[in-house]
Amino acid sequence: MAQDSQARLGEVYDFVIVGSGGGSMAAALVVKAMGLTPLILEKTDLFGGTTSKSGGILWIPANRFMAADGVEDSADRAMTYLDHVVGDHNDMPGATRARRLAYITQAPLMVDFLVEQGIALKRHPYWPDYYSNLPGAVEQGRAVFADLFDANLLGDLRHKLRPNFVPLPIKSEEMWDLPLIHTTWRAKRTMVKVALRIAAAKLTGRNWVGSGAALQGRMLHRAQQLGVDMHTDAGVERLLTDENGRVTGVIARIDGEERHIGARLGVLVNAGGFAHNQGMRDLYQPGTSSEWTATAPGDTGEMIQEMMRVGGAIAQMGEMVGNQIALPPGQPGRIAMVVSELAKPHSIVVDQSGERYLSEAQSYMSFCQAMLERNKTVPAVPSWMIFDSQYARKYMVAGTMPGSKKPPAWLDEGWLKTAGSLAELAQQCGIDAARLTATAERFNGFVARGVDEDFGRGGSAYQRFLGDSAQKPSPSLGTVEQGPFYAYPFYPGDVGTYGGVITDCDARVLREDGSAIPGLYATGTSTASVMGGAYPGAGSSVGPSFVWGYVAARHATGAA
Ligand SMILES: Cc1cc2nc3c(=O)[nH]c(=O)nc-3n(C[C@H](O)[C@H](O)[C@H](O)COP(=O)(O)OP(=O)(O)OC[C@H]3O[C@@H](n4cnc5c(N)ncnc54)[C@H](O)[C@@H]3O)c2cc1C
Repeated sequence: MAQDSQARLGEVYDFVIVGSGGGSMAAALVVKAMGLTPLILEKTDLFGGTTSKSGGILWIPANRFMAADGVEDSADRAMTYLDHVVGDHNDMPGATRARRLAYITQAPLMVDFLVEQGIALKRHPYWPDYYSNLPGAVEQGRAVFADLFDANLLGDLRHKLRPNFVPLPIKSEEMWDLPLIHTTWRAKRTMVKVALRIAAAKLTGRNWVGSGAALQGRMLHRAQQLGVDMHTDAGVERLLTDENGRVTGVIARIDGEERHIGARLGVLVNAGGFAHNQGMRDLYQPGTSSEWTATAPGDTGEMIQEMMRVGGAIAQMGEMVGNQIALPPGQPGRIAMVVSELAKPHSIVVDQSGERYLSEAQSYMSFCQAMLERNKTVPAVPSWMIFDSQYARKYMVAGTMPGSKKPPAWLDEGWLKTAGSLAELAQQCGIDAARLTATAERFNGFVARGVDEDFGRGGSAYQRFLGDSAQKPSPSLGTVEQGPFYAYPFYPGDVGTYGGVITDCDARVLREDGSAIPGLYATGTSTASVMGGAYPGAGSSVGPSFVWGYVAARHATGAA
């Protein structure tokens, strides 16, 4: 076990938190509430992590908002659901039944705590659990999110809040309307509301941010109000340990200067995963690329390696929260997140042989798992999104508005293929023409009968939710038959890795022999997820990051 001299400790806090993601500020608020001193150290120049960039949804079973709205749920029901979705697997030590139960027990308490702290949270009115046909699922969903936040309340710190992936003052429940602007009145009304909100903000000097930026903005604001010490440009390079292997502090580089900082009660690592570390990806997730990730740039994995150095055991490193992405040309570095586009009617997804091989409307993690699995036998990375002119009129294409003129580079560089017939389109994509035509004809037959007999597309509340409510009889199914036809390639990208150090029900980092490393806690995507290899519902990453951060701080401070 490595030991480090404590002699050069310049400053000492009660609890040192590495990273400023989901669980970090929740932990800091707990420590402050106990009258103790937390310190948050963030490596990049912005606070908030991928959490700030994200949808900001937390998956919280049996939460107070469901109870208030009469949506039935309970810990037992949620456990039934997780037993079916996650299950017990020896190779998933982060997702033991004990940990799942601890999560379900602590999650609503964590939300109660945040509400007491003045964080304005609400329930998403309808976002079905992702396996909505399984026992214990809740069709309305268990998604909690933060109300829009006026970033100007942060004063100068507003420039330090990582922006969201949607740079609009749009509420989480409104986001789903955006792609349906050409098909539903509700979406049109929502767009008018958002436009008025933008205009009013200009007049009143508000700086509304939504989704993850609203969540992290609110957390940052509360931390600021309570006087939590926080630094950006403060990368932690090393964990300090004493002669017994207890973690006693960190070495951080703050604004370029090396600082040794003591932690009386412990260190919480909430430093994200390794989505941007191609070396770790090659080792643990071969065939995936750091160019396909939508995570924030700090997701580079070195703190997972550092926790391994002091004895932490790792697991579930092969898991990621897959998310289908496209790489349209013309805007280097831009990733188009196409999950909901692929699930809209009048389109199919095929592998490079021209076959459908999955339900296009299943949840993103399982979709990408299916892509990578398929690729072992038939080339499926990239796969092709195939759609017709009905689709092009009604729905978004790689993030552009329905029916809008597409950037010239898309066609000039041959990224977006278009042709008068499916056979011609197939040739452009290097797909067997007869195969693609037959696949589309078979699919059109399913549309006529209202059931996808091959893969059950649209067969659950969640899958229909991803479709178009104006499409009858199934929101997921529409023929692919009216030319011109279009195609673009897409990849199994991700919104984060999902494996890391193994932690126990108190969020303590465990060694291979199952003993806890004293003074070391971890949460978020630095850990082996409590959800194992599955994504039960919206918020299955941010929810656990917050909950285990809260649990860790309560354990370390003796509040538990
Ligand atoms: C567009 C998008 C939408 C998403 N929507 C959702 C959603 O709605 N709900 C959901 O559950 N998940 C969602 N996800 C996934 C989710 O956002 C992430 O999995 C989650 O936010 C990770 O949180 P975290 O707390 O583990 O890490 P992060 O929020 O990424 O925070 C980790 C922080 O640690 C910092 N750091 C790293 N190394 C060091 C170091 N050595 N020293 C100091 N700091 C360090 C990083 O810079 C980073 O700021 C989404 C992701 C994306 C990209």
